Amino acid sequence: MTFSELGLREEVLQSINDLGFEAPTPIQQSAIPHLLKSDSDLVGLAQTGTGKTAAFGLPLVNNIQDQYDLTQGLVICPTRELCLQISKDLENYAKYDRKTAVVAVYGGTDIRRQITQIKQGATIIVATPGRLVDLIQRRAVKLQDVRFVVLDEADEMLNMGFKEDIDSILDQTPDEKNVWLFSATMPKEVADIAKNYMTNPLEVSIGHKNQGNVNIEHIYYTVREKDRYAALKRLIDVNPDIFGLVFCRTRHETQHVAENLSKDGYNAEPLHGDLSQAQRDNVMKRFRERTVQLLVATDVAARGIDVDNITHVINYQLPDDIENYTHRSGRTARAGKKGESLVLINLKEHYKIKAIERQMRTSFTLGVVPSANEICAIQLASLINKVKDTEVKEKDIEEFLPKIMSDFEHLSKEEVIKKFISVEFNRFVEYYSKAQDLNVSESRDRRERGERGDRDRGERGGERRERFDRDDSNRTRFFVSLGKRDGLNPGGLLRLICDEAGLTSSSVGKIDVMPSFSFFEADNSHTEAILKAVNGANYEGNRVSVEITKKKAERRSGGGDRDRGFSGSRDRNDRGGERRSGGGFGERKREGGGFGSRSGGGDRDRDRNSSRPRSRSSYGRNN
Ligand code: AMP
Repeated sequence: MTFSELGLREEVLQSINDLGFEAPTPIQQSAIPHLLKSDSDLVGLAQTGTGKTAAFGLPLVNNIQDQYDLTQGLVICPTRELCLQISKDLENYAKYDRKTAVVAVYGGTDIRRQITQIKQGATIIVATPGRLVDLIQRRAVKLQDVRFVVLDEADEMLNMGFKEDIDSILDQTPDEKNVWLFSATMPKEVADIAKNYMTNPLEVSIGHKNQGNVNIEHIYYTVREKDRYAALKRLIDVNPDIFGLVFCRTRHETQHVAENLSKDGYNAEPLHGDLSQAQRDNVMKRFRERTVQLLVATDVAARGIDVDNITHVINYQLPDDIENYTHRSGRTARAGKKGESLVLINLKEHYKIKAIERQMRTSFTLGVVPSANEICAIQLASLINKVKDTEVKEKDIEEFLPKIMSDFEHLSKEEVIKKFISVEFNRFVEYYSKAQDLNVSESRDRRERGERGDRDRGERGGERRERFDRDDSNRTRFFVSLGKRDGLNPGGLLRLICDEAGLTSSSVGKIDVMPSFSFFEADNSHTEAILKAVNGANYEGNRVSVEITKKKAERRSGGGDRDRGFSGSRDRNDRGGERRSGGGFGERKREGGGFGSRSGGGDRDRDRNSSRPRSRSSYGRNN
């Protein structure tokens, strides 16, 4: 099928031709003819990378013509990054429609300039929800002439807490508009929007509902927790031409992994909420230009990243929320290309792979962390190819050649080749000379732990981890303001404590995750580090507050069985298991992460960009 068969105007076809698109992608083939009709509500289930922006952008530009002073098209999307990308695409599609003006409005930047731009004419507004609501309240945007509303990445917008804003925007648009909704997944909240605001929408699904892109190969590697970083390096080393995204769970971990990779000679940069907007823009620019080869990011900061040709997504740690895995892996294999999503897990995390497989209806392959030999062979081949492909600048090298030749005169051709290759190759050979097999299977782990356990018992009288359960005075019990309802599980809490406070898991004792809050115990010697580092940390968009609980004796005499002085109502509610959120410890501050943050006041998008996910599909088990 060709674009001209879809029914688009000549001017639009001309712009498609300029972009070099040869044939419509599957979602464009299904969606465009329908969206060119007068009644054209649509629900499109598609990931980024399928060509969905053009699937709605081309008919939108096609349907809006020559009336630049009326806002007829509205595109709402979750992040500033995506907002800029969509408006740039729409401008390209409208290249030959002189009277179509596209204006992007998003949080984190001066609102007055955006108001001026809108006043000059905005046929199509591309907006993030919070900023759009601000502009509507300031009467800078009028929606009475809107004929088309596009909701892009609807699931992301709802995850980010934009539901009320979306409802309020849609309520102000005319009844007879067309609504086109695109989402990578279809949780109930997204289906509700379709139910409330659309009439008989056409449902176009590229792949199964909740299924990821079929061009992505999902591979997991089982390693010991202590080998996670070494395994990451091997996955990178075995792919010399990697252009990848490495996902971590916390800002601290992201920074730490990126710094270590840099120190170890990799071209890696971090992207997380602790960086300023200018720093993040700079990193993104360099990543897009491929000056940065590996971007190490948190889920929040990576939202809306729209970079083509990412070869690998590496999940250094899996996200708590399965839908985030869909979003992570969807960053590769765009526009029909192939990509790999690699996952590092420890033995206790197998159930997470099963849960993702169930939800995404996809299957993972068990990968083998490459051996030192394999890596060295691949690196050597890559090096040789690079040398073979290197163009010799004859003219520039000419004047140095006599000296070079005389320096190597005493060496044979073979020796010269070996020496040049070794300049680079030695680094790998040295690093991997003592490298061991990092793969671990359940049986192997049990066997080894058994042996080690015997040794430990023999040497230390079997006191290793039990010390936590016997001697109260050595440990402190902490209260944590988040619980199961915030997606926290014991493994997640352990990782958070260890990552933020720089502890090993053996310093942490019993962990109790309750519906709305949690407790854990740790060696007394780490109390200060925990209070300093874990308190105020961010867990999946929620601020973590940590306090020392009262001692058992004090609790007994202090009345009731409460571990600390939280409000009676919360206590009751937690026992009743009903309460969702609200005052007391439930009051959550949001991390200043995400694109569009850090700017002057009244910036609603900044607040929302990193708000806690509302709809969450976790792995359905605590590890
Ligand atoms: P999207 O899913 O909208 O993020 O698009 C992913 C990438 O595919 C973008 O770089 C688009 O420019 C590109 N693209 C979209 N449609 C086509 C097409 N029909 N042919 C080739 N590339 C396309």
